[in-house]
Amino acid sequence: RVDDPILDVSNIDTYYGLSQALHDVTITVGEGEVVSLVGRNGAGKTTTLRSIMGITPPNRGTIELNGQEIQGNKPHQIRHSGVSWVPEDRRVFSELSVEDNLDMALTTGTNDRDKADIYDRFPRLEERRTQAAGTLSGGEQQMLAIARALLGPPIELLLLDEPSEGLAPMIVEEITDIIRSLSDDDVTLLLVEQNAELALELSDWAYVIETGRIVHEDHADALLGDRELLEQYLGVK
Ligand code: ATP
Repeated sequence: RVDDPILDVSNIDTYYGLSQALHDVTITVGEGEVVSLVGRNGAGKTTTLRSIMGITPPNRGTIELNGQEIQGNKPHQIRHSGVSWVPEDRRVFSELSVEDNLDMALTTGTNDRDKADIYDRFPRLEERRTQAAGTLSGGEQQMLAIARALLGPPIELLLLDEPSEGLAPMIVEEITDIIRSLSDDDVTLLLVEQNAELALELSDWAYVIETGRIVHEDHADALLGDRELLEQYLGVK
């Protein structure tokens, strides 16, 4: 589908103990693309991201970042290779201030973004710079999680796990605008969402996952227009 992809996941199988969570999953992401992986609860979306990050490495198949195999590497090595991850549960350090959370990310490395760039992009975080992260609203914590993922070692690919989860519709719109602005800045994104319509509206290409298998892939526009498929695999009415 893409020549010289940034991310090339080929035929991976991933297990939790004896239970196979991913079956022969293949996903490619080209430079500057927004690709989404959509599917119902428990379909294997998070496991795919965890496999890429080296948290649950695949037992079979390969994962290449810019042509280099990374499967089998440790999560911190994978982060240093350029894959940054915003986990589903956000995992901000609740007791630390917003600024300290950002400084923690900066201890792992630097790229051409600094805190001033982050505060330009997220004025709400600047206003709340000294506030403990645990006291931020859900939307603000999501902003902080994204902000943190943008700092540290240089980024080739950003993985976003369910950025809209648990957020009120107005806040989802704000997060959507943030994702769109990242994409306008040529950040390459792999987005996992249960909210298929949201993900498809943001994406160039999309994969549909069901019980650990990729069952469909297409231009996001085409998928968005296929009501029958959306209903069958994603429960969209
Ligand atoms: P959700 O949006 O609910 O997180 P998902 O599509 O991200 O869904 P996964 O979390 O990847 O799905 O789960 C895929 C399958 O792997 C599910 O059957 C789930 O029960 C199983 N699974 C996930 N985490 C573990 C674990 N730590 N141990 C055992 N099985 C797990």
